[in-house]
Amino acid sequence: MSAEEKIGVVLVDDHAVVRSGLEQLLATAPDVELVASATNGQEALDRAADDPQGAVRQLDRARSLRHALYAACTDATDDAAWEAVAVEGRAAASQAVLSRGNAPGHRWSIAPDAGLERPVLELAREAADLLARTDMRRVKACPGSHCGWLFLDPSGRRRWCSMEVCGNRAKARRHAERRRASGRSGRKGG
Ligand SMILES: [Zn+2]
Repeated sequence: MSAEEKIGVVLVDDHAVVRSGLEQLLATAPDVELVASATNGQEALDRAADDPQGAVRQLDRARSLRHALYAACTDATDDAAWEAVAVEGRAAASQAVLSRGNAPGHRWSIAPDAGLERPVLELAREAADLLARTDMRRVKACPGSHCGWLFLDPSGRRRWCSMEVCGNRAKARRHAERRRASGRSGRKGG
């Protein structure tokens, strides 16, 4: 699908975790292009209006980070990918501020004055956190057709990102293949 056919989306939500989850979800949709994300509507519009070229550069940067993170999570020998994530992680760490949150914890976030860089630095901060805290041997890629989602598999026994989605689809496909195969052999016999 070409870029012109895609639906451009500016994601706006004031909750960093919700935003990050939605960004990951949108990244897997083939017909959706995430153009920018921001904490509120006015902020997003101001940014786009002030510096559209800068926004496109940051979007490219976010795509590269996504690509590198995926490679770093799925191929332990890909040093270039790991380094690319680490470079962005360092940039994010240098602009992260500890904010006083509601109980029980406080949180790291990228200061608003990072401007257009803020969304990609937020992603980089989360990415670096993920690499630092996760046993990467437990990260698996879903083998579902057109899926590729990554998930944590602490038990070592999980196969699908979601049994309800990819697991059931695979089951239905196998069932249909078996029916087709038995139909063919039935005709041959008769
Ligand atoms: Zn899947």
